[in-house]
Amino acid sequence: MAPITKQYDYIVIGGGSGGSGAARRASGWYGAKTCIIDAGVSGGCCVNVGCVPKKMTWNFASISEAIAAGKHYGYKFGDGNSFDFKTFVDKRDARIKVLNGAYENNWAKEGIELIHGTATFISEHEMEVKPKDGSEVFRVTAPHICVATGSYPTKPEGIKGSEYGITSDEYFAIKYLPKKMIFVGAGYIAVELAGVMNAIGVETHLFIRGDTFLRKFDPMIQETLTKHYEEIGVHVHRNHPGIKEVIQLHGGDEEHSDPREKKLKVIMNDGSEMETNELLWAIGRGPEDRGLGLENIDIKRNQKGHIVVDKYQNSSVPGVYAIGDITGQAELTPVAIAAGRQLGNRLFGPPEFKDAHLDYDRIPSVVFSHPECGTTGLTEPQAIEKYGKENIKVYHTKFSAMFYDVYPPEEKKKEPTEFKIVCQGPREEIVGLHILGRGVDEMMQGFGVAVKMGATKKDFDSCVAIHPTSAEELVTMR
Ligand SMILES: Cc1cc2nc3c(=O)[nH]c(=O)nc-3n(C[C@H](O)[C@H](O)[C@H](O)COP(=O)(O)OP(=O)(O)OC[C@H]3O[C@@H](n4cnc5c(N)ncnc54)[C@H](O)[C@@H]3O)c2cc1C
Repeated sequence: MAPITKQYDYIVIGGGSGGSGAARRASGWYGAKTCIIDAGVSGGCCVNVGCVPKKMTWNFASISEAIAAGKHYGYKFGDGNSFDFKTFVDKRDARIKVLNGAYENNWAKEGIELIHGTATFISEHEMEVKPKDGSEVFRVTAPHICVATGSYPTKPEGIKGSEYGITSDEYFAIKYLPKKMIFVGAGYIAVELAGVMNAIGVETHLFIRGDTFLRKFDPMIQETLTKHYEEIGVHVHRNHPGIKEVIQLHGGDEEHSDPREKKLKVIMNDGSEMETNELLWAIGRGPEDRGLGLENIDIKRNQKGHIVVDKYQNSSVPGVYAIGDITGQAELTPVAIAAGRQLGNRLFGPPEFKDAHLDYDRIPSVVFSHPECGTTGLTEPQAIEKYGKENIKVYHTKFSAMFYDVYPPEEKKKEPTEFKIVCQGPREEIVGLHILGRGVDEMMQGFGVAVKMGATKKDFDSCVAIHPTSAEELVTMR
């Protein structure tokens, strides 16, 4: 057995959003002797194959949309709006490299030791580390261990040829655009990536099992956005029967980086067929426990394999904590970071932080769809279930934003802006806010603060509107 070579106050497994937040608070603020063990690339999912490249690609697509809008405004453009996707991807990759370095610099500055390798529990407070560079396996130990290993995109089991499709991880390796692409899934990742591809001219098919996508969101968002995606050219296959088999007719290269060369035949459960250059599974993510050795410690997990934690991020094993996607709680970067920071405060901070924990209620989030949508708190059905229909009052508005005033009426009609405020009780406390339309991504954060503070409809109404904006409708709704 490998000898114990190193002892720490705090071992953080995973250098992604959560792990970085946890380690920086413990070491940078409170001087705990901390190491991060990371098996992948510093920054984890968000920086490398999540939020950052996704938003940059969404920004890229928004240029196409701005050019289309520009024509309605009287702008004239030159050469058929050509673009070089690879140039953009190279710049995006370069930016990500800068961020990888920034993460590592911050850790070094704050006294955190970074170990590139895979960590495996061998007992409750001992881990074996297999260094990435192939050097000798060693052991580390600490009284406090934080598991922040994230999640990974899954492919369906039991569908022949499913391996010929890609996941969101490989999506970010695409340098040359396929002519046609199928997305399977109804969650935000499918909706975001399909929306981007459609906006930059790829024939985009979205297979969803139900009648609408974004099923966890308010029905207003589901219905309006699904319909709008159809109007902007995404082939949304509602109530899709599912895929039976994927056959590779012609291969791209190993990394799938040139899907122009790839040809797949997709056979559906109802016998119909479709050919495509690329297929992306966005059917859900699994907790990243591969190689972690959780079977070696008696740790409680739920049916999906997520580590079960209490409100303090304590697992069932004393001294072992879990944060971020591995816990399956609100799988978002700022959630993982905030949970990690609070855990650091509680474990290593002054006594007044002994109750520190993240409050998971009313977490605002945005989907970078086309247009984007934002949400916080309860959906209308959730609010009805929680408080009873008689105690809920809903305010709703739908209109065309001023930006579209120069569009031909038929086009203008298609561009939705829609807001819903869900209130509870005689004070009309706002327990849910759902907004959709151009610019709502930046709008959501401020309103998120208000809703988190327990704002009532009267509070919203007492705020003077900013004119002319779409957001003003939120403080003038009847
Ligand atoms: C396409 C996509 C878009 C997204 N967009 C957004 C967005 O816009 N906004 C948002 O808030 N969230 C977004 N997310 C979600 C967000 O990226 C995750 O919620 C967040 O990264 C989770 O952080 P984490 O710390 O739990 O895990 P991660 O950031 O995934 O970090 C886990 C780290 O652990 C390492 N690791 C795993 N196992 C081991 C092991 N045994 N030993 C050592 N190291 C190990 C991995 O290498 C990795 O670096 C997106 C996700 C995807 C996939």
